[in-house]
Amino acid sequence: MRIVLLGAPGSGKGTQAQRLVERAGIPQISTGDLLRAAVARGTELGRQAREAMDGGRLVEDSLVLGMIRERLGEPDTRRGFILDGFPRNLAQAHALERLLEALQQPLDAVVQFEVDYRELVRRISGRRTCADCGRVFNMLTSPPAASESCPKTGAPHRLTQRPDDNEATVAERLRVYDEKTRPLIDFYRARGLLRVIDAAGDVNEVTRRLAQALGAPLRAPRGAKRRARKGAGARPTHHKPTRKRAVRQSPGKLARRKRAVARKVRAVGRGKSPRATPAGRGLKGRPR
Ligand code: AMP
Repeated sequence: MRIVLLGAPGSGKGTQAQRLVERAGIPQISTGDLLRAAVARGTELGRQAREAMDGGRLVEDSLVLGMIRERLGEPDTRRGFILDGFPRNLAQAHALERLLEALQQPLDAVVQFEVDYRELVRRISGRRTCADCGRVFNMLTSPPAASESCPKTGAPHRLTQRPDDNEATVAERLRVYDEKTRPLIDFYRARGLLRVIDAAGDVNEVTRRLAQALGAPLRAPRGAKRRARKGAGARPTHHKPTRKRAVRQSPGKLARRKRAVARKVRAVGRGKSPRATPAGRGLKGRPR
C-alpha cells in the first residue's frame, strides 16, 4: 500500500502513521522527522533547513525532494510506504507523481485528515516526543501509559516539546498549510485518489475511520512489525498463508457458531459509516 496522509499540523497524521506502521508493516516517511534528524546531526542539509523550520515556513523544495528521492530508493519501501508531511505544495506533488511513475509505484490513496482550527491548536500544545525512541504522544489525547517504558532505554519516555510547537510558529504553520498545502486536496481529488476522514475525537476511533477509508483490514503479516521498526534494509515479506487447524465440531455446536457469525455480520452491517466531512473547506472555524 502506498499512501499519503494529508492534513494540517496537529491533525494527527504522525500518530495515525505510527499505528499504520504497526498494522500494515510498511514504513512511515515523515519529511518533518527526516529534517529534524538532519538538524540534530548538524548536517549541511540540516543547516540549510533550520531557519525555515524555526520560522514555520516550508523548507526549499529541492532539499526535501532530494531527501525523498533517496528515501524512496531504499529497499524497505518496495512493499509500500506512508508519506507523512509530504508533499506539502503543488510542485512537490507533481515531482512525487513523476518519481513514482518512474519507479512504477503509483499511489493507492491520499487521506485528508479534517480537524477544526481550535482543536489543531489545542492538540499541538499537548504534543510531546520521546527524545530517545522518537514516539509521538499527546498529553491530552494519547499520553503514555503509566506502565509504559521507552523501547530504546527501558526507562520511562523522556518527553520533549518540539521547538516549532510554540504559539507564533504554529500560527504561521497553519497559515502556510492553508495557502500551500490545501490546494493538494483538489489535486488528488482530480486523480480519484482522495479519501477524507473526520480526524477529530478519540484516537482509536480515528484509526478505525482511517482503516475504513483505506478499505484495509490493516493486519500486519508475520514479522512485518519488526521489519518496519528496523526500517531501511529490511527484507520484503513473502508470507505464506497459515493453515488453519481442523477442529471437529458437533452439528449442534456448528449451527450455534454459524448463527453467532451471522449475528456479528448483521451487527457490522448496521454499524455507522465514518463521519466524513466535506473536503476542501479548509480549517473549520479558523479566524481569517
Ligand atoms: P512537520 O513535522 O511535518 O510538521 O514538519 C516540521 C517542519 O519541517 C515544517 O514546518 C517545515 O518547515 C518542514 N517540512 C516538513 N516537511 C516538509 C515538506 N514536505 N516541504 C517543506 N518543508 C517541510
